[in-house]
Amino acid sequence: MRANLLKAIGIIVLLVFPFVVISPYYIHLAATIAIFAIVAVGLDVVFGYTGEVSLGHSALFGIGAYTAAILNFQLGISFGWAIPAGMVVSAAFGALLALPALRVTGPYLAMVTLAFGTIIQILINETVDLTNGPLGIKLTRPLFYDWRTLGDTIPFFKMPRPRMVETQFYYVIAIALVVTLVLISRLLASRYGRAFEALRDSPIASDCMAVSVYKHKVLAFVTSAAFAGLAGVLFAYSEQYVAPNNISFEQSITFLLAVTMGGRKSRVGPLLGAAIVVYLPNLLSDIEQFRAVAAGIAVIAVVIGAIRLLRGPAEDRLSVVVPVGLCIAFFGLSLILQRITDYKLTIYGLMILFVVYYLPDGIYGFLRNLVARYRPDWVRPPVVIDGMGDETSAWAATPPATGSGVALLQAHDIVMQFGGLKALDRVSLDVMPGTVHGLIGPNGSGKSTTMNVLTGIYTPTSGKVVFEGKSIAGHTSADIAGAGIARTFQNVQLFGELTCIENIMVGLHHTFRGTMAGVALALPTSRAEEAHALRRAASLLRFVGLEAMANEEARNLPYGKQRLLEIARALALDPKLLLLDEPAAGLTAPDIVDLMTIIRKIRDHGITMILIEHHMDVVMSVCDTVTVLDFGQKIAEGKPADVQADPKVIAAYLGTAEAEAA
Ligand code: ADP
Ligand code: MG
Repeated sequence: MRANLLKAIGIIVLLVFPFVVISPYYIHLAATIAIFAIVAVGLDVVFGYTGEVSLGHSALFGIGAYTAAILNFQLGISFGWAIPAGMVVSAAFGALLALPALRVTGPYLAMVTLAFGTIIQILINETVDLTNGPLGIKLTRPLFYDWRTLGDTIPFFKMPRPRMVETQFYYVIAIALVVTLVLISRLLASRYGRAFEALRDSPIASDCMAVSVYKHKVLAFVTSAAFAGLAGVLFAYSEQYVAPNNISFEQSITFLLAVTMGGRKSRVGPLLGAAIVVYLPNLLSDIEQFRAVAAGIAVIAVVIGAIRLLRGPAEDRLSVVVPVGLCIAFFGLSLILQRITDYKLTIYGLMILFVVYYLPDGIYGFLRNLVARYRPDWVRPPVVIDGMGDETSAWAATPPATGSGVALLQAHDIVMQFGGLKALDRVSLDVMPGTVHGLIGPNGSGKSTTMNVLTGIYTPTSGKVVFEGKSIAGHTSADIAGAGIARTFQNVQLFGELTCIENIMVGLHHTFRGTMAGVALALPTSRAEEAHALRRAASLLRFVGLEAMANEEARNLPYGKQRLLEIARALALDPKLLLLDEPAAGLTAPDIVDLMTIIRKIRDHGITMILIEHHMDVVMSVCDTVTVLDFGQKIAEGKPADVQADPKVIAAYLGTAEAEAA
């Protein structure tokens, strides 16, 4: 309700703006802000959600602008066709830009995107025949409909032609902005948005949930690029001129700043950020306005500071003094300065430093956190799962068959070599369907390495892995997960910034059939899928006893609960084989009892398991077969009781106990 009201107000403001603020200058400024907002909202998909820094977005923006300009200049094609063309061409370049993401991430990917921007700028400068080189290309804004024919009856529309062109184009941009906001919001609220965040928080776990990191990175870049292209087309016609210097490193930084200053992972943040970065140069050339804004900031800072001092927790009372003092000093500075044009860049830099240092979540993020202290449900409306889900709908519709008598998984003579170290030395393993297969051994004996080989994280140096009669060695983690092998990790790998329910929804990614277009259009089928997945996620959460924490971010859970959540997420994959790597580590005694119940229930639903565990009582009571590793070699295998009595096993364990004692 509240959110809808705010959206309605936003749309009304957009609608009436050109008739309230008559000045073409300000209408043009608002249009420019909207164009930058489209880029920033799209950039947030890559930056805020997948967590990759792109320094190539000004190039994608420029490609959109040049597509429009070249089509018009060379072929006389009009504005209407330029929009889809610009989006498609930019999206194609976005895919190209994402290719290196297969190999590099983080700072290295940022460098690649930077190089991409430079190359595009040089290309545009050099291909004079196509782009008119450094001289740039001129365009004219279209007049869509001559309002003066209505002017006689509706006095509102009586305006000189230039203002009419400006106003009409403003509306085109406003519509583009609203459409962008709607489409991107829908995309990010869907399984795609969850996948983007998942791959940011744990790429390994994403792949092991059959959510291909690479595929979704490309999707994020392509989407983001398409909207940068749209903004580029609008920019070309809005300025009626494009030149190679529209593509620059500074421009890319400006886009990133808009997202960081405004606040990532939201629509309002980039919008606010775009307004700031576009408006700031104006502000810094008008001392009166600058003083007024500085005074406003100081007043707001004092009010927020006073609230914090009076009502905040004692330990951060002092921490507000410095930022509030800085805001007041900033106002003082604005009074002393007679001319600011000389200090433009310095002031710009100071403001950026202030925001990045004191408002790490951006301005909108800061305000949101402030509201969240008092009204958490206003900020993140909780997903209500009360009364939703039950024991039965937690499980796959068709349980895996278990009675075949043929091994579900056969690993044959696996060797895994890391440099000079053979972490696994000709290890063979047959896992029978419907059983719990224990994998034990001292620390460093190769248990986790076995699991990593089976799930495609490592490609074995030699040896065969056959799952359900098909070879899987050398396949990607995402493919292996898709074939029905799910896992948990020794070092818990949750998607920290996602809530518990969202973590499980990522596991359910494979159950969705709808396309991106279906999500964008909010088709009934795609909404039904989402609702169905939510019901299953709620059931799974209930199964591990975490339903009360559905809306808690996974990173805030106690360690033991995180392990349970990881199991629920793995079950969401509808696995035939589930690998658990030390699930009881760090659990309290009562939690371990619950865990054993959970493991038995999972087996009762026909899911085969490999269980790595140090707690012997757990191994003895739930495993059907146990394999013992020591120094990468299999030293024993059989029924739990027999293995426990095996002298070689005792020696291996005693050996390490003695070594530890020494
Ligand atoms: P554990 O049985 O305790 O799970 P691991 O499988 O984690 O043991 O490790 C087995 C051995 O392989 C250890 O000596 C470890 O240092 C080594 N190892 C595991 N992964 C790697 C890697 N990526 N690079 C180098 N050595 C590794
Ligand atoms: Mg291990």
